Amino acid sequence: MSIYWNHRVKTLSPYIPGEQPQKGGFIKLNTNENPYPPSPKVIEAIQKALGAALRLYPDPGCTELRAAIAQRYGVMPEQVFAGNGSDEVLAFAFAAFFEPAGENQKALPILFPDITYSFYPVYAQLWDIPFTPVPLAADFSITIADYTRASGGMVIPNPNAPTGRALSRSDLVSLLRFYAQEGEGTCGRVVLVDEAYAAFGGDLEAAPLIQEHPNLLTVHTLSKAAALAGLRVGFAIGNRELIQGLCRVRDAFNSYTLDRLAQAGATAAILDAPYYAEVNRKVIATRNRVSAALLGLGYEVIPSQANFLFIRSRQSRGIQFFTFLREQGILVRHFNKPRIADFLRVSIGTDEEMDRFLGVCESYRA
Ligand code: PMP
Repeated sequence: MSIYWNHRVKTLSPYIPGEQPQKGGFIKLNTNENPYPPSPKVIEAIQKALGAALRLYPDPGCTELRAAIAQRYGVMPEQVFAGNGSDEVLAFAFAAFFEPAGENQKALPILFPDITYSFYPVYAQLWDIPFTPVPLAADFSITIADYTRASGGMVIPNPNAPTGRALSRSDLVSLLRFYAQEGEGTCGRVVLVDEAYAAFGGDLEAAPLIQEHPNLLTVHTLSKAAALAGLRVGFAIGNRELIQGLCRVRDAFNSYTLDRLAQAGATAAILDAPYYAEVNRKVIATRNRVSAALLGLGYEVIPSQANFLFIRSRQSRGIQFFTFLREQGILVRHFNKPRIADFLRVSIGTDEEMDRFLGVCESYRA
């Protein structure tokens, strides 16, 4: 604590990101990065953008990038917002669409699962938005009936993190219809669908639904499926009014959130769909193989549609399993939280990395 901190900063509980070891030597399966490199076209585009033009500010509207995204998803550029990682896009969306308690006595809590991306409660706290965590079922699936009640909106990653479980298209449409009804608060109720991992699922992408559901905002990242966690690019797709809301927040904060190199690289990544289809086909195949192998070894494995597995040793506490893996040079993620403290989230690496991981899991059980 510092006397220089204001009340907001004193009462925050910031998000703690996964460890990024500065020395090599680890098999790094802890932050859901893609184990394969980005498309060579991305590197070329960034190299081309490296030059005297860096003296100039970047395009604040990210015009080329938004046009590429619009084409890829079959929407209009006005229905696309780009930002500095999906974390920033999510932070702006919370600020734009959910009602803070301090300003409105009638503000209803927003809803999201009790087990989900741990940044959501941090954003809610940052913007003073009341929230109610909604318990997942015992098997970590979402019961949509739990969300059809008075609220200020909802947030859901699809597939969910860190469980990897997905919500079906028909369940999502039911929620969108329910949330489209007149809310009791002062603003319409937005459903934020965080699709950070959707590319690793089956037919999960909800962006086409924005044409019929003006209360839907899908949020995307290039950190996972596009193997560009180091570039920090995310985007959102939704109806024009939602996108304008995001622009209003951004332009009250920092007009140039995406630099020239990021815009060039991200545009090339979006345009090179064939390269990424192949990369992510490999990630999915490895995930399915490792999942089956772990089940064979007697571990509990939650069915995953993402680029990670949520697993539990039936013989030991999560922290012990985590420590054992770390001692063997394998870094995974452990969340010391109710209901999931005995689980570990394991990102999918290359086949060689996962074979090494499976070998360690086999020796642990023995
Ligand atoms: N949403 C979810 C569910 C995530 O797991 C992550 C990665 N930590 C993000 C959003 C943020 O991704 P980024 O800021 O790298 O785009």
